[in-house]
Amino acid sequence: MSHPDVAIIGGGIIGLTSAYFLARAGASVAVCDRGDLGREASWAGAGIIPPGNPDRAATPIDKLRGIGSVRFAEVSSELRDLTGIDNGYRRCGGIEFLTAEDAGVPDVWRAEGIAFERLTLADAKTLEPLGDVEGEPHLLPGCAQVRNPWHLRALIAACERVGVRLHPHTGAEGWHFEGGRVSAVCLANGDRVTANRYLLAAGAWSESLLRPLGHTPHVHPVRGQVALLKGESCSRVLMLGKRYIVPRGDGLTLIGSTEEPEAGFEKRTTDQGIEGLLAFARRTVPPLANAALETAWAGLRPGSRDGLPFIGAVPGWNNVFVAAGHFRAGVQLSIGTAQAITELLTGKPTCVDLQAFALDRKPQANAKSAFRS
Ligand SMILES: Cc1cc2nc3c(=O)[nH]c(=O)nc-3n(C[C@H](O)[C@H](O)[C@H](O)COP(=O)(O)OP(=O)(O)OC[C@H]3O[C@@H](n4cnc5c(N)ncnc54)[C@H](O)[C@@H]3O)c2cc1C
Repeated sequence: MSHPDVAIIGGGIIGLTSAYFLARAGASVAVCDRGDLGREASWAGAGIIPPGNPDRAATPIDKLRGIGSVRFAEVSSELRDLTGIDNGYRRCGGIEFLTAEDAGVPDVWRAEGIAFERLTLADAKTLEPLGDVEGEPHLLPGCAQVRNPWHLRALIAACERVGVRLHPHTGAEGWHFEGGRVSAVCLANGDRVTANRYLLAAGAWSESLLRPLGHTPHVHPVRGQVALLKGESCSRVLMLGKRYIVPRGDGLTLIGSTEEPEAGFEKRTTDQGIEGLLAFARRTVPPLANAALETAWAGLRPGSRDGLPFIGAVPGWNNVFVAAGHFRAGVQLSIGTAQAITELLTGKPTCVDLQAFALDRKPQANAKSAFRS
């Protein structure tokens, strides 16, 4: 890996989107990943992209989400033009079922200018074959989805096209310091990679590389299990609390997800987890009871104490940056994150105030986004 301007550690959606944006902005970029590129949380995710409006968002996290919502279509067609790969992005619409816990959410949507319509349950049942559901249905025509594995394939190919050097199976183990600066990344194979700047984007594994830099923000894994059914009975994304049903449009339906911080780095499905998801699917959309289980998988979301990501400079080090901890929302936040990182590294004002995502912030009480995904 010959001395790039920016060396990125971690080739998930955050590292790869940042690499692509940085290379488009003229930087020489290398990405190393300890496994195959894009095969961890980013591959496992459901790909829900809720609506948003960055110009009217009330909080930095909603602004970041809004950037993703507004730009995902344009970035998807750019990737398709460059690589010929369709990432499956489509605005399929969604129905979110709000409960007492979500009081105030419609006001946030209204203030942000997000199109939505409060439905009666009877109206919702004319749109989708719903069974037993809790909460008040709200139609969100701007809700979109992307096929994560396809999007990652497109991103990897696009990175190659714009000259990003990609190094799968190249794990980072630590840093080499010289004169109060990071002067290299130490690889598991004993090699060192030098660069002008370093961006840590190692998802749920980021903490072990932040510790030697003097930071312990508690980025941690939060397992999520997913079941994929052969069969499709609804046409919109259905969101009920932390669970959702995502019709893929090609005869498959994704059912997600569990939220299991206690599982640590154990990335596997459990009978209980998958049974729970299947029961949820049958209850919510009864015709899915006839759909066979195609496959199931688990992924490790990069959690943080307050659920917000860490994006920006690593305090104490003038050449190290971080983009990690995107928890349940790394796909929808990937474009805003990559845009902000590129602006930061090219000396431009950032699209969002990065103080909210500072590595040394106090965990924010009630740091909620208008969507969970
Ligand atoms: C079941 C599930 C459903 C989800 N649904 C959605 C959704 O609908 N919408 C949404 O927006 N988000 C969703 N998410 C969240 C989203 O997938 C994550 O927030 C996002 O993928 C995080 O991206 P990342 O690049 O930070 O992490 P990852 O994709 O995990 O990538 C980190 C990469 O770093 C590499 N790495 C780790 N350690 C090292 C090292 N030492 N050296 C080199 N490389 C290293 C890993 O191999 C990995 O490839 C979901 C997640 C899960 C698990």
